[in-house]
Amino acid sequence: METKYIFVTGGVVSSLGKGIISSSLACLLAARGFRITIQKFDPYINIDPGTLNPYEHGECYVTEDGHEADLDLGHYERFTNVRTSRANNVTTGRIYQAVIDKERRGDYLGKTVQIVPHITDEIKRNVKFLGNTGNYDFIITEIGGTVGDIESLPYLEAVRQLRWELGNNSLCVHLTYVPFIAAAGELKTKPTQHSVKALQEVGIQPDILVLRTEKEISPEMKRKIALFCNVAPDAVVQSKDVDSIYKVPLMLHAQHVDQTVLRITGTTVEGEPHMKPWLDFIAKMDNATETVTIGLVGKYVELQDAYKSISEALFHAATYAGHKLHLEYIHSEKIDSDNVGDKLSGMDGVIIAPGFGQRGIEGKFIALKWCREHDIPTFGICLGMQCMVIEFARNVLGLEDANSTEMDHNTPHNVIDLMEEQKNISNLGGTMRLGAFDCTLRPGSMAHKAYNQQHIRERHRHRYEFNNEYRRRFEEAGMECVGENPAAHLVEVVEMPSKRWYLGTQYHPEYSSTVLSPSPIFRSFIDAAIAYHDEKQ
Ligand code: GLN
Repeated sequence: METKYIFVTGGVVSSLGKGIISSSLACLLAARGFRITIQKFDPYINIDPGTLNPYEHGECYVTEDGHEADLDLGHYERFTNVRTSRANNVTTGRIYQAVIDKERRGDYLGKTVQIVPHITDEIKRNVKFLGNTGNYDFIITEIGGTVGDIESLPYLEAVRQLRWELGNNSLCVHLTYVPFIAAAGELKTKPTQHSVKALQEVGIQPDILVLRTEKEISPEMKRKIALFCNVAPDAVVQSKDVDSIYKVPLMLHAQHVDQTVLRITGTTVEGEPHMKPWLDFIAKMDNATETVTIGLVGKYVELQDAYKSISEALFHAATYAGHKLHLEYIHSEKIDSDNVGDKLSGMDGVIIAPGFGQRGIEGKFIALKWCREHDIPTFGICLGMQCMVIEFARNVLGLEDANSTEMDHNTPHNVIDLMEEQKNISNLGGTMRLGAFDCTLRPGSMAHKAYNQQHIRERHRHRYEFNNEYRRRFEEAGMECVGENPAAHLVEVVEMPSKRWYLGTQYHPEYSSTVLSPSPIFRSFIDAAIAYHDEKQ
């Protein structure tokens, strides 16, 4: 079949969940056997979110091919089990950089370079890039931002042109908000009407309207919206708040959104999507009665999007273990030796979060010392693993002032140090050790048991590494280096076999955990936390 393009735009306000709607639609189409991918176009000037502070934009997600991407790509992978790449996330910065590079090369042959057609052509080329591979039946393109934003205009113009070129092989899903005005006791459709009007003003007629709402929208109100917005009544659907994002695909399917998409694009609709594994997951989630409590020690706790992939990976693992997840975010800057017991003693397991820089680091060491001494299941991820190594060096090996050279350039014991290839880098964007790398696990180790295989590949995002000069001393004292990159001999996993579960990974296993394929190492950690919980009873 010819590749079909679905554009997802948003109106009224941001944060309505375009990423979840796009992911849910893709999940349904994939369950019907179609080959799908989702891409996001972000209207900011940064080349990628790699240099953005998590407070700005939440977590930075990393693709297998080493692209620092918007966190929505994490949702895309978690909902569809389909890997994304650099091509799935494009920013205004990337578009302009490509156009300016062409201009400097003289590719435009002396013409004046303009937003229309040069920027819009570059956007269109990127939109169609994955479609042109022939690998996909449906390309879902999420346009970041909101209709009416100055930044979004070139994207909407590109969508308008593409819709014209592609005809029935494309459609537009518009997500809007229907607020409930408590004083009037009523839902209001006016913002939706205005938002659709704004879209029509730039020449785009939506085919499907998804109305985000806290309360049930009546059929009568849907008909009214359909009438005002030129949309078929059965293509006006509601997205009511649900207790889990993983129920959104089911909610859309109940309103026949997948069938509507197939009908509009002239694709034959056959039977029902194969949702059995998904439904099994939802049933496990709904039937869980016991709770496992995990403490996440990090410095961005005010903003839970900063640890999105970790919280989702924990949730996948807890659900498969038949438990509810209770995740407590613990601010690393607020931990000291006096309060650490109060903060951590109620936990069944503790995660020490990834991160950059000095802030909050001493709290992580205090938390780790307490966890190690009290034998709590503990999982260090990236910076968290590096902190495990530093804490062990200081308090077990007796190497006073051991540190990472990231935190203390002049430490006498640089147990974590800059990688050789990182030493001469001055550019901050896109220059870390990024993407999936091989790792060989030591037979018999906890990590090996967790993955049940010796050769794994996981994604990385860091500059610093375990310093191999200290390896023997760590091993002799009980912290073993059980995962290694076979090519560079970099230490990727450390663990303490004498403990219940005390393990750190230099890589980020959370990026590859999906609903249908949860991360093995997270599952092992959660199982250990549950066992510890039961033991305490
Ligand atoms: N700051 C550390 C490094 O660059 C760890 C990075 C991380 O946790 N993602 O090596």
